[in-house]
Amino acid sequence: MNYLKTIIKRFALWELIRGLVVTLKYFFRKKVTLQFPEEKTPLSPRFRGALALRRYPNGEERCIGCKLCEAVCPALAITIQSEPRSDGTRRTTQYDIDIFKCINCGFCEEACPVDAIVVTREMHYHQENRGENIITKEKLLALGDRYDAQITKDKEDDSDYR
Ligand code: SF4
Ligand code: SF4
Repeated sequence: MNYLKTIIKRFALWELIRGLVVTLKYFFRKKVTLQFPEEKTPLSPRFRGALALRRYPNGEERCIGCKLCEAVCPALAITIQSEPRSDGTRRTTQYDIDIFKCINCGFCEEACPVDAIVVTREMHYHQENRGENIITKEKLLALGDRYDAQITKDKEDDSDYR
């Protein structure tokens, strides 16, 4: 009996009919295709895009040059040099991230004791010249300044889960 059913289904192109029914069902439903880049999908507060360095509200850079992020980075993408300032505090003299190596894992953000290095929502970036893959401290701080409001909001939204 099963054999007969299979034969009938094969000759009636049953799978094809089922596929067309699914197509017909979705033909009249609301379309979900977005016209990127004009339209964008919502992003999670945990989205891991470009990296940035943050400052305190008084403009002082947060990073204290402890090198925990450099130690935890699985891709060895971070290079830090630090030394004491005249006021006795320690700050970095070099903070470079090689974004060709970075895998946007976010471990550096997790390790940082002062919320200095963070991942941002920025994902639209490119390089046009050799060497621009090294993101310097100045560029990282500029990114932090640019996206500070969004970074602060994302951290607040996610604080209950950390
Ligand atoms: S996001 Fe991950 S790979 Fe990139 S610099 Fe931070 S720890 Fe390294
Ligand atoms: S970014 Fe954070 S973890 Fe990395 S050196 Fe600065 S203070 Fe330490």
